[in-house]
Amino acid sequence: MAGKIKAILKKLKIGRSLKVRLFIIIFLMGFIPSIFMRVGILENYESRAIDVRISDVQTQLKIIANHLITYNYLQDTSSEVIGAELEQLSNLYNGRVLIINESLKVIKDTYGISEGKTIISEEVIKCMKGINTANHDRVNGFIEITIPIVENISAQNATEDQPEGTEIVRGVMLISVSTDTIVATMEILNRKALILGIIMAICTFAIALVLAQILIRPFDRISRAISEVKEGYTDEPISVPDYLETEHIVDAFNSLIARMKALDDSRQEFVANVSHELKTPITSVKVLADSLLAQQDVPAELYHEFMEDIAQEIEREDKIINDLLALVKLDKSAAELNISVVNINELTEIILKRLRPIARKNNVEVTLISRREILAEVDEVKMSLILTNLVENAIKYNREQGKVEVTLDADHQFFTVQVSDTGIGIPEESLNQIYERFYRVDKSHSREIGGTGLGLAITRNAVLLHRGSIKAESVEGEGTTFVVKIPLSRVLI
Ligand code: ADP
Repeated sequence: MAGKIKAILKKLKIGRSLKVRLFIIIFLMGFIPSIFMRVGILENYESRAIDVRISDVQTQLKIIANHLITYNYLQDTSSEVIGAELEQLSNLYNGRVLIINESLKVIKDTYGISEGKTIISEEVIKCMKGINTANHDRVNGFIEITIPIVENISAQNATEDQPEGTEIVRGVMLISVSTDTIVATMEILNRKALILGIIMAICTFAIALVLAQILIRPFDRISRAISEVKEGYTDEPISVPDYLETEHIVDAFNSLIARMKALDDSRQEFVANVSHELKTPITSVKVLADSLLAQQDVPAELYHEFMEDIAQEIEREDKIINDLLALVKLDKSAAELNISVVNINELTEIILKRLRPIARKNNVEVTLISRREILAEVDEVKMSLILTNLVENAIKYNREQGKVEVTLDADHQFFTVQVSDTGIGIPEESLNQIYERFYRVDKSHSREIGGTGLGLAITRNAVLLHRGSIKAESVEGEGTTFVVKIPLSRVLI
């Protein structure tokens, strides 16, 4: 049954609604204490009313018990005064009074039923020993009270055994009083409390409804604001500072939007840059081809020269496209790393061998310093990209007779590749930007020497995929040092 209700609530989504939960909590917090209060007050009233009734009756009985001794009623029950007093008492409390003498015989019963009979009950015997008793019988609706009839020995009755002032129990007064009036009052009170309870329930219901609505409002505002952003009406940061919690949600949402916007901007910028970069060689090719076509009898040397230029531009276009493909591949994910144990010293030597002809052409001397043998768990192709790009840049942006020094070193966790050159250097303000796609310190110079502006972006991505770091230090006109630090083992990644 409970499971069924749960399933229905789940379907209705009510059980998951914060508003409904708040409503239930507020309602129960207002309603449950009122029930306890009602029950508590009524019970307290009943026991208090019974205590008061017992104490009233006991006071009356004590007075009459004294009269009984004074009028010697236990020996002679003819006293009309006492008879009237007893009658009045039993009428007043709607009860029955029995007077029992020392031999447990009933000498007076206001109902006249038990006179002459002997009563042996625990209460009467207890009372004979001088103890008052009072018992409430809730089921039958009466209270039974006993008090002893005590004679105080006077001076003229005093004997040796019973000196003056001795208290002797001469009999017992037993009264049964009805609790009907108390029960009736309780019923009235109960009815009133019930009405009050219903009014309170209605009030707490209304208050809970309104409070839940008010408390939930900031969340409604958030979802409205998010919808507006989603629909594209606004891209302003949203603000719902009502609660700390809403502020946190909104802050997280705003930073997510800002991040997405930055990503979108950078993508747009990238697309614009790519288009521009790809267009430049094509435009050159077109200009060169058009100028050849425009002339009638083009000398063979000029034709050859123009064709060489066209071939160079096509080569450049090809380089850009290849770099872009490499970058896109690296952008995918770290899962694409093809890890194997690579001897970094050997790999570096192979790459330097490949690059030496370019270095020679530029009159640059390349040296390798291997401080120790390095075996690292890396992706060999991506590691080659890192080394090639750094050493190629060090050669390209060097001066005549310049030097490039590649130093390999390692500790127990990381290996480092340091590539220092004696080249043109990088201005301080550009040091942070050189890793951006298509960023070049000197665009025309870079173009001249065949740069695409993508080399360091590729390098940095490859380093980051290995959970490594790359840093550059440079002094303009003196040279640049790049330091790449990569974990030796995949476990450390
Ligand atoms: P590019 O293909 O133009 O070389 P990179 O991304 O490899 O593109 O480098 C970005 C820019 O950083 C270069 O255009 C160059 O201005 C600067 N740069 C990179 N390496 C060096 C270096 N070793 N010395 C001086 N400048 C460098």
